[in-house]
Amino acid sequence: LTPPPTKPPKNTRSEALFARAQNAIPGGVNSPVRAFRAVGGTPRFIAAASGAWLTDADGRRYIDYVGSWGPMILGHGHPAVVAAIQAQAQIGVSYGAPTELEVEMAELLCARVPGMEMVRMCNSGTEATMSALRLARGHTGRDGIIKFEGCYHGHGDALLVKAGSGLLTFGVPTSPGVPADMARHTLIAQYNDLDSVQRLFEAHPQGIAAVIVEPVAGNMNCVLPAPGFLEGLRQLCDRYGAVLIFDEVMTGFRVGPRGASGRYGVTPDLTTLGKIIGGGLPVGAFGGRRAIMSQLAPTGPVYQAGTLSGNPLAMAAGLAVLRQLDDEALYARLEQTTAELLAGLRRAAARAGVPLATTQAGSMFGLYFTDGEPPRRFTEVMACDANAFKRFFHAMLERGIYLAPSAYEAGFVSAAHGADEIRRTLEAADAAFAALAC
Ligand code: PLP
Repeated sequence: LTPPPTKPPKNTRSEALFARAQNAIPGGVNSPVRAFRAVGGTPRFIAAASGAWLTDADGRRYIDYVGSWGPMILGHGHPAVVAAIQAQAQIGVSYGAPTELEVEMAELLCARVPGMEMVRMCNSGTEATMSALRLARGHTGRDGIIKFEGCYHGHGDALLVKAGSGLLTFGVPTSPGVPADMARHTLIAQYNDLDSVQRLFEAHPQGIAAVIVEPVAGNMNCVLPAPGFLEGLRQLCDRYGAVLIFDEVMTGFRVGPRGASGRYGVTPDLTTLGKIIGGGLPVGAFGGRRAIMSQLAPTGPVYQAGTLSGNPLAMAAGLAVLRQLDDEALYARLEQTTAELLAGLRRAAARAGVPLATTQAGSMFGLYFTDGEPPRRFTEVMACDANAFKRFFHAMLERGIYLAPSAYEAGFVSAAHGADEIRRTLEAADAAFAALAC
């Protein structure tokens, strides 16, 4: 393995591609965070990936802690996944008719995800959460939903909503184009604060169709559920007849072999999935209690559909990944590697006198530039030093370590990250923290 250069040369191919891209694609990217706006500088255009490594358009190599934002838990180009995609491509990439692969996928998900009795495939995490909400509304005959400030569930209208002024008021859109009439059905609670949820239920005892939550909040970097929080949501939903939805698009098959519901021992009514279950191909899924899932068309009245849903390539890739993940030892190894990485990062930060707190759920991790405890709430996440993160991000990138280009995104370790990758990462971190301390 060639060691990564310490400084990026000027006038790179990434810069040229970014200039071209910005002319033809809004912001030069097909998903905003990729544009590096939160950290500044030029995004690296990626030409190839293998194992734990990315290679950019200039031939520079990076150890990857983004993993395509979560799917690549086995690392890039795992031979079983590549073989499954190639074999399926030979016999057809899409039929628009049912396949045995979809049955296998559904049976496997139902066997492994707590509370999943039936499941429907779709094409993204966004579709999964949108569809789960419609289903919960159809099932309960209610319109209101509760979401948590700082949790992200994709870009569906009902979920691009923040708190209005005053805790018990209706939500307001976070994006132009989301009708205020739509946002007013979304009520915003505070993560890890059951009282804030209770108050919303008390104000609308017959009005809440669903509570949707990231059981580990991976879009506030990585905020862990406080003891009793998920259990409390379960109890409140039961008391008020609302559907509890765990958005496990990120945590599903990531924080453990049975996702966050398995890890924390709380079973929701519906679970949304994505990322890992497609092995890096576009995918989403939502499933749960049979009585609710049976309300979907064609057995029930709630409409949901998709031209490419259950796509054979995505099913083949996802099944190949999930078969590898039927392995407690692999999860134990992932957790251990991640713990070693975080312990090393904390030691390196301490040596340089940089305040750093870390969180971990399986192979998902959070880095917070704060001298306090790791954050438990949105306001505490926002109080961390985002500027220090930005400097650390660039100091690491220059040294060949690819972290998510935002202080609010979780990091991911893959099964392809070995002792050598961790050692290189910690060497880079020593230098990066030292640079930060100057
Ligand atoms: N839900 C969670 C928890 C996510 O992290 C994401 C994306 O990162 C989504 C939903 C949306 O998934 P997608 O980007 O596939 O639409």
